[in-house]
Amino acid sequence: MEILNTAAALQAQTETWRREGKRIGLVPTMGALHEGHLQLVRAAAQECDAVVVSIFVNPTQFNNPDDFRLYPRLPEADAALLAPAGCTALFLPAVTEMYPQSTVLRFDFGALEQVMEGAHRPGHFNGVATVVSKLFHLSRPHRVYFGQKDLQQVAIVRQLIADLSFDLELVAFPTVREADGLAMSSRNRRLDAEARAIAPRLYQGLQLAEKLVQGREASPAAVQAAAQELLASEPALDLEYLEVVDAQTLQPLTDWQPHRAVAVCLAAHLGGVRLIDNVVIEG
Ligand code: AMP
Repeated sequence: MEILNTAAALQAQTETWRREGKRIGLVPTMGALHEGHLQLVRAAAQECDAVVVSIFVNPTQFNNPDDFRLYPRLPEADAALLAPAGCTALFLPAVTEMYPQSTVLRFDFGALEQVMEGAHRPGHFNGVATVVSKLFHLSRPHRVYFGQKDLQQVAIVRQLIADLSFDLELVAFPTVREADGLAMSSRNRRLDAEARAIAPRLYQGLQLAEKLVQGREASPAAVQAAAQELLASEPALDLEYLEVVDAQTLQPLTDWQPHRAVAVCLAAHLGGVRLIDNVVIEG
């Protein structure tokens, strides 16, 4: 596995692979890798001839300076995990390499970013779209791999690919969970033992919602209220939002729509850490 630190080195490498007719997979990450990331890398290795994994804690997508400062950074441990998972090249740029000058371009994803993460983290998806566009241009992948754990991010990147005609295929990978149901996340490392013991409660709230959505008897508002109530019974959990939405448009539902997938998405603060999770229920 090669480690590439500059945009020019990544471009040169991926250009060579393109000339050799290799299919390139890209897995963008912010590092502090866990099994959820590694499953994306393994899937990419199975389906592509060369796999680029980027590790870049992207400052432009953080709206909270403490979250950026405290985000776990473990490049050596990450590199050791990536080679056996099938990564061909690790792209590990410095901030100045990705942003030699500050960006002025602004993305507007309309309704898609006016809910949930977009509404609660102003500028977040502008930063995501900026860095993802840069990574697409630098690595020119055939396939890109994203996790459904960040469901709204998947929808935003899908829109970005369509609107800017990026010639690549997006693979959305299901959420990988710990044995007790907690969605794997780099931020889980920041939970102390007490918070870690409470964290699976989030998925319990989502599972309750999932069961109710499957029945389609309770209204979307009643499903939301039932899940909120379950989560409110844990005082350490501070729920930022819990929404019952159309899985494609991400707009909140007032009624069930026939044959349309539903998503229940949440964000919560626990022990000073902000966690997100979701479940998707097919239509
Ligand atoms: P991050 O490093 O958190 O920015 O995540 C990098 C990629 O891995 C994103 O596409 C995430 O959606 C994905 N990812 C993060 N956690 C998980 C998980 N538990 N299961 C599946 N994919 C994940």
